[in-house]
Amino acid sequence: MHCPFCAAEDTKVIDSRLVANGDQVRRRRECLSCAERFTTYEIAELVMPRVIKQNGNREPFDEEKLRSGLLRALEKRPVSVEDIEANIVHIKHALRATGEREVESLVVGEQVMTALKKLDQVAYVRFASVYRSFQDIAEFRDEIERLEAEPSND
Ligand SMILES: [Zn+2]
Repeated sequence: MHCPFCAAEDTKVIDSRLVANGDQVRRRRECLSCAERFTTYEIAELVMPRVIKQNGNREPFDEEKLRSGLLRALEKRPVSVEDIEANIVHIKHALRATGEREVESLVVGEQVMTALKKLDQVAYVRFASVYRSFQDIAEFRDEIERLEAEPSND
């Protein structure tokens, strides 16, 4: 691949390793002309189902939107980028595994809820409070109590 610094055509791979539970390949590359180093990530591109929004509109699955939703919920929480990426891969797997060409946006939301519940409960409640737009404080409290009553998966 071309060097992003000087656009030279020849760059060499100096390190290559599996990341995100083996679903991504991370490569360190070095430019043979300017000697700058940079990193590339390689992932398999597979067809994702389209998303049916609540108003019935269809739109392409948007991985960036999924990522920014997760990052917003996980802001200032002790969760690594690696774990977030692994969950994005997992959610995409789950959506493809439905075998459907179109899925309700609700299905995507539930996948995110499931992922956050395991990753970080504060982030889960943050996301759930927006996503489910709890009617009132009692409903919100019920959800938190239900979380506390559930045995941990770890
Ligand atoms: Zn270069």
